[in-house]
Amino acid sequence: MSGVRTVSLVGSTGSIGAQAIEVLNGNRERFRVVALAASQSVGRLAEQARLLSPSVVAIADQSKVAELRDAVPKGTEVLAGDDGLDAVAGIADVVLNAAVGFAGLRVTLGALNAGRRLALANKESLIAGGPVVRMARRTRGAEIVPVDSEHCAVHQCLRSSDNGVADVVRIVLTASGGPFRGRSADYLAGVGVEDALAHPTWKMGPKITVDSSTLMNKGLEVLEANELFEVGLDRIDIVVHPQSIVHSFVEFVDGATIAQLSRPDMRLPIGYALCYPERLSVAFGEIDWSGMRSLEFEPVDRKVFGCVDLAFEAGRAGGGAPCWLNAANEVAVEAFLARRVPWVAIKEVVAETLQAYEPVELENFEDVIDADASARRHAEMVVAARERAA
Ligand code: MG
Repeated sequence: MSGVRTVSLVGSTGSIGAQAIEVLNGNRERFRVVALAASQSVGRLAEQARLLSPSVVAIADQSKVAELRDAVPKGTEVLAGDDGLDAVAGIADVVLNAAVGFAGLRVTLGALNAGRRLALANKESLIAGGPVVRMARRTRGAEIVPVDSEHCAVHQCLRSSDNGVADVVRIVLTASGGPFRGRSADYLAGVGVEDALAHPTWKMGPKITVDSSTLMNKGLEVLEANELFEVGLDRIDIVVHPQSIVHSFVEFVDGATIAQLSRPDMRLPIGYALCYPERLSVAFGEIDWSGMRSLEFEPVDRKVFGCVDLAFEAGRAGGGAPCWLNAANEVAVEAFLARRVPWVAIKEVVAETLQAYEPVELENFEDVIDADASARRHAEMVVAARERAA
């Protein structure tokens, strides 16, 4: 790599953000952090600013700007709100988007429209903003390198053919199966928030952990893969792999299947997306083969985990449907975490909300904001009706 790469990290105080800080801090000869942004955790953000001395820090929550200004080193520029996020999205060689949920859309579009590399750990923005993000990706210099472990694996596998996706028969995304793998519908009727948050292999934030328990995370990842690699939904498949060692496969026209393996450690995909096309010289997730006995694979139970099919349906409908799917899911997951609805209702809220979807095309940022808001209104009505009925 020639010279030091500048990095802007959005969502620095979340789970991915904290691991990115570790990677960046441990590789200061390769990266210089110029901006850090978080939604509201002033204390942690200020602590990170003292560690990495970025020139800019931004906080999404406007009301915390004074508190942040007092907490960061003198001379650090402090920004806030949407304008603050827009500013940090465009000022570095690599923008690592680790925001949570739909809120990441501004950053995804900001980085791509500025012609930067987007190291993407926010799948929701790609799914909700689909057609608009596709246009932004055409900006000169713009590129996406996925941080999501499965997509990062596919990105690595695809490098084994110079023909790219033209040589691809099938992309197979692996799923750990989450905490409820093998469970019956009866059992799942009684599960609570603590059960859903007990993920067997990955340590992650609450939103994605709940998504993993419903397999909506995998459904969203199918749509993410389709946006990233443009192979069409018919060439994307899912297999359950409880050990989370094989992070995905790509099957090629000559019969070869290429996979990427490592222990589940997000610091590897973070480093990959920062360094690509080179590799980080520090190893994360290396496998000890002397202790590895078996790798298991099994089909997804699509009856019990209906979110997978909902995602495929929304993807096939196209237009604003994936945006609606994502928004309805965010509302449903939030309601579940607030103990307003049971776990089984997450899928039902999403399905019922999608029934109200009227086909709409997304041509610009405002269209996406509108579609997201309509879907949230509908989903919130569905949640409220269920609460009343309970
Ligand atoms: Mg993933």
